[in-house]
Amino acid sequence: MASALLASKTDLWEAALGVLPEKVGRVTFDSFLRTSVPLSLDGTDFVLGVPSDFARTWIAERHLRTLERCLTELAKEPVSVRLEIVPPELLTPQEPLPAPSAARDVIPARSAFASLPLNPKYTFGNFVVGTCNQFAHAAATQVAKAPGTAYSVLFLHSKVGLGKTHLMQAIGHFVQAYRPDFQVVYISAEQFVNHLINSIRDNRTESFRQHYRSVDIWLVDDIQFIAAIEGQTSEEELFHTFNALYETGKQIVIASDCPPRQLQIMNERLRSRLQQGIVADLRPPDVDTRLAILEKKAQTEGVAISRDILVRLAQQIESNIRVLEGALMKVCAYTSLYGVELTPQTVDEMIRDYATSSSQPHVSIDEIASHVAKHFDVSVEQLKSARRSRAIADARQIAIYLARELTDHSLHSIGKYFGGRDHSTVIHSYRKVTEGLEKDPQMLWLINNMKTALSE
Ligand code: ADP
Ligand code: MG
Repeated sequence: MASALLASKTDLWEAALGVLPEKVGRVTFDSFLRTSVPLSLDGTDFVLGVPSDFARTWIAERHLRTLERCLTELAKEPVSVRLEIVPPELLTPQEPLPAPSAARDVIPARSAFASLPLNPKYTFGNFVVGTCNQFAHAAATQVAKAPGTAYSVLFLHSKVGLGKTHLMQAIGHFVQAYRPDFQVVYISAEQFVNHLINSIRDNRTESFRQHYRSVDIWLVDDIQFIAAIEGQTSEEELFHTFNALYETGKQIVIASDCPPRQLQIMNERLRSRLQQGIVADLRPPDVDTRLAILEKKAQTEGVAISRDILVRLAQQIESNIRVLEGALMKVCAYTSLYGVELTPQTVDEMIRDYATSSSQPHVSIDEIASHVAKHFDVSVEQLKSARRSRAIADARQIAIYLARELTDHSLHSIGKYFGGRDHSTVIHSYRKVTEGLEKDPQMLWLINNMKTALSE
């Protein structure tokens, strides 16, 4: 039996509402728990009514134990929780109530949407994750799982051929599969501009606006194209569309060939909006990731090719995944045409022309340490010491993660810097933070802000 104090389901749930935001995180709380309702408390079985199947899965997979622990503490009895989907009229109303949206009713037919088709190969399953793109991948998966809730704006940037379009479309595929009620629109900025120009010409700007503003997930590729256009009309229109979606809690994902601050746009408000989201870069992959990508590609394309040759390609083509894939296809074509495997010399010959260099701006490990120390209110000396108190250890893990992400230092030298630790500790710290990024929106947000601050 629950304690006398919290004997009713309502009392128990109200008490829980006071502490849950802190335990499950704001995003989950606001999206799924705030409107949930206590349905029954029978002995120690608590049944919670949740808004959707999606909410049920989300809570069940990530927060059920926290929820049970929290209710158990409050009731001073072991409470077990069951989740049931309830119709909207039974839910606790959101405050403030969202403005009724008429847009839903005027959505044009699906086929009327100017979405480019998604490439069926650009899925999360086909995306190889390495240190070069792990952060972007983590952000993209979180966006895909809870569009419009965790981060309303995700800004992906990298040089050409490093996976922006792939990752962006993977979000589209995922949402289409799990949220078929969501209107996903994938367009290039160029297509957006063409569409705009046509609608101005035909006096249809109002329907143009309606059209884009009833989108749930807006994937805008190659936004740098906007900068190449004379005049500000397209920027303005993009900005308005962006704001309309942003303000109605829709999901926006942007890809660009440079970070927001370098984007050649006139509209400073647009730039600052772009900077407010999660900004994730994709860097050229290291040799192991390149090899993994080649192996995956050979497998999905169903081509048999010796590992020696894959290794050779991976070692020599450093900067661009599209080029890497191109080289693989060239080698495959040769093999199937002549029915023989290439010799290493022929491979070298074939890929000689591919450019390979790449370089990143550098941050020093000292800068990272002092930034992290300041944020966590510890000293740099403490980060560099062997001390293991919880607060220092957490901060140190993040500093190690950032050192690995943002500098070229070896595992050994990072470990040495942070208290003479060995490379396995560095790997462990890196992995802990990486896991946090996949699960915890706050962690992703924190790391995002630190990376942005450090690379400014
Ligand atoms: P971008 O948009 O950055 O120019 P793309 O997304 O078009 O790059 O990627 C270029 C090619 O490389 C695509 O064929 C894509 O599938 C492939 N690719 C990029 N990153 C990865 C990855 N991490 N794993 C597997 N394939 C990748
Ligand atoms: Mg692209």
